[in-house]
Amino acid sequence: GAANEDIRRRIRTIPDFPKPGIQFRDITTLLLDPEGLSLSVERMLEQVEGEIDLVAGIEARGFVFAPAIALALGAGVLLIRKDGKLPGATIAEDYALEYGSDRITIHADACAPGAKVLLVDDLIATGGTARAAVRLLRKAGATVEQAAFVIDLPDLGGAEALRSDGIRVSALVA
Ligand code: 5GP
Repeated sequence: GAANEDIRRRIRTIPDFPKPGIQFRDITTLLLDPEGLSLSVERMLEQVEGEIDLVAGIEARGFVFAPAIALALGAGVLLIRKDGKLPGATIAEDYALEYGSDRITIHADACAPGAKVLLVDDLIATGGTARAAVRLLRKAGATVEQAAFVIDLPDLGGAEALRSDGIRVSALVA
């Protein structure tokens, strides 16, 4: 809403990245600004309900926000990584892209059964990444009921799809 205009104006749009026709929302300008950084973390925190054991950040920009939120909640950080990056035994989840598919992984022993996990990323578009993350965390036995983003692109339907998976979705800017 208008209340987050102070965040919105610190995000820039780069045309034709990473390919022609894509309007990429660039949060590096938000992060560079101390007030932009602290406001984003504070407002994401305001959306969190109840106890959280672990904040799961999605590689790579989710890694920026997850630790800041986790420190404030007294929670740990769980890294959701692209395939081939984690050193221990992993479990994986695949998701469809426009062309082909992608795979995310977590360590198989990353969370205790029933651990309350908050999912965090910078942006939700089609929801493919976040929905795969929820499937993966639930496969690991986690209780996942909330996801927090800086940006939602509502025309792409990801937040709505994630809500249909039983997730309470928050975003600061649409
Ligand atoms: P989805 O899976 O919802 O279609 O895409 C979301 C994922 O791709 C997130 O991990 C997000 O970081 C990345 N992403 C897609 N488009 C953008 C964009 O315009 N800006 C940023 N910062 N990330 C994007």
